[in-house]
Amino acid sequence: MSDAPRGQLIVVSGPSGAGKTTLLKRMFSDSGLPLELSVSATTRSPRPGEVDGVDYHFLTPDEFERRRQAGDFLECFEVFGRGDWYGTLQSEVAPRLAAGKWVVLEIDVQGTLAVLRHYPDAVTIFIAPISPEDLELRLRLRGTETEAALQKRLATARRELEQAHLYRHRVTNDDLDRAAAELCSLLRS
Ligand code: 5GP
Repeated sequence: MSDAPRGQLIVVSGPSGAGKTTLLKRMFSDSGLPLELSVSATTRSPRPGEVDGVDYHFLTPDEFERRRQAGDFLECFEVFGRGDWYGTLQSEVAPRLAAGKWVVLEIDVQGTLAVLRHYPDAVTIFIAPISPEDLELRLRLRGTETEAALQKRLATARRELEQAHLYRHRVTNDDLDRAAAELCSLLRS
């Protein structure tokens, strides 16, 4: 029998604007667990301040397609229907799981369902906003989108909220401290 350490795969989803990224940062700093974030690949352009290899692996559409055909992705999809591809590289996940790490994926709902086909024991967590109205307000305050892009994100968010029941856990981001504590305690259990 092997006594190699067993890694854990944690998949977190939720509409953009629900405060997912801030909450995840708190989960990393507060949980005391050996968590490592998988850096996704994308064909979208970096936003101001985003760093290649840290926020995403920013790939050209040709490079993304080449790696997709080479089977480098655990899952990949076009997100938001606007031609931008996002995907989880196998190299971000498999070696870390084998080394006993807890790998955190921040991906969308279709990506989660694909990951579950490969890793049925993955712990899935949906981060929900207080309400769709609250989500719209947060996205408008962030002010990084054109109105058309924002409407697309809201439509995607509404679809995602309807699929929240597919996740093993749901955490409402009503208050950062409370939601972070809930996340950490469910991971420890
Ligand atoms: P953003 O463009 O705001 O960074 O991310 C947009 C969306 O893409 C988020 O909802 C995020 O969950 C999703 N996403 C990021 N990386 C991946 C990935 O590797 N795979 C999939 N399926 N979705 C991703």
